[in-house]
Amino acid sequence: MGRIVYVNGEYVPEEEARVSVFDRGFLFADGVYEVTSVIGGRLVDFDGHARRLWRSLGELDMAAPVDGDELLAIHRELVVRNGLDEGLVYLQVTRGPADRDFAYPDGARPTLVLFTQEKRIVDSPAAERGIAVISIPDRRWGRRDIKTVQLLYPSMGKMMAKAAGVDDAWMVEDGAVTEGTSNNAYIVTAGKIVTRHLGEEILHGITRAAVLRFAREAQMEVEERAFTLDEAKAADEAFVTSASTFVTPVVEIDGVAVGSGAPGPVARRLREIYLDESVKAAV
Ligand code: PMP
Repeated sequence: MGRIVYVNGEYVPEEEARVSVFDRGFLFADGVYEVTSVIGGRLVDFDGHARRLWRSLGELDMAAPVDGDELLAIHRELVVRNGLDEGLVYLQVTRGPADRDFAYPDGARPTLVLFTQEKRIVDSPAAERGIAVISIPDRRWGRRDIKTVQLLYPSMGKMMAKAAGVDDAWMVEDGAVTEGTSNNAYIVTAGKIVTRHLGEEILHGITRAAVLRFAREAQMEVEERAFTLDEAKAADEAFVTSASTFVTPVVEIDGVAVGSGAPGPVARRLREIYLDESVKAAV
């Protein structure tokens, strides 16, 4: 693939990039990450991702390896060095290498890794046709507001979806939908856009924040509350948001067609607005 990746202050060919086997990211999933999309060589909502990164680090008492200006400079440098036009920048910070011990080590030096990945984001077949999901129980840990690299249950969820012949899974807890395996979940019902309120049960999506802001600016009604699976199946529309998929319609849940069974007008409009606005504001 021949990418240049960033590891702890250096830009190196991907096959030369190394992290210690004692790294706590490897041993304990003691690390956090961010994914920022790139369109036309520019970063979408970089400030939002940086803010969430500082918050994730703070919640885990983990030191920030660089400051905000440096972080932006590294993102930009990687995009340039890899000639990335459309895709994403993945960033991971771990507590760093230390002797294996459950307690956090004193004075560990955090590990910082970033790499780019090409991906078609704007012209997405999934967004055109909409995706099908199944529901699965939410068996993740309780601090889903911290963007940690413990992604095994979401991976299992994707595999359950794949085995069922669909695109993704929506996770359900106490009768209510929390979120998708790697996206925030929404329905459109009684003329309102409904999405789960923020809390420790879901990731505070950067795309979610932007999309809700744009929806309110466009005079669409938004309700932030838990919704049930039955409500979702009976809704007029459903959709998901994430940095790497923007707004993507959900047209089927557990084999039940949502609304007409085709992408609906609200999801389409929000995708258009988000694309326009985020590209305009990209850095
Ligand atoms: N929820 C989960 C569980 C996710 O993994 C993601 C994407 N990382 C999101 C929501 C969407 O967040 P964002 O819009 O910041 O990509």
